Amino acid sequence: MTKKRKKREAIECIQVRPPACPKCGCTDRTNTDGVKKRDIAGKTVDGRLFTQVKWSYCNCRKCNQRYAFVSYLAPASAPAEKTD
Ligand SMILES: [Zn+2]
Repeated sequence: MTKKRKKREAIECIQVRPPACPKCGCTDRTNTDGVKKRDIAGKTVDGRLFTQVKWSYCNCRKCNQRYAFVSYLAPASAPAEKTD
């Protein structure tokens, strides 16, 4: 059975750096603000391909440290897609 692909692609965050608060190591974030998103393709340190990079700010839930983090985004559904 073949399904037609929908135009809108789900985007998945495959990696976040730093993964936790640089001060206390807590991974809970609050007040997350997206800053900018760019179409940048590349590979994460564990070898996954990403197609977009997003910079954001957040507050640590534990120590309230404000810090920036980078999210690496990739289409959630699989790879090989033709571009017409
Ligand atoms: Zn913290």
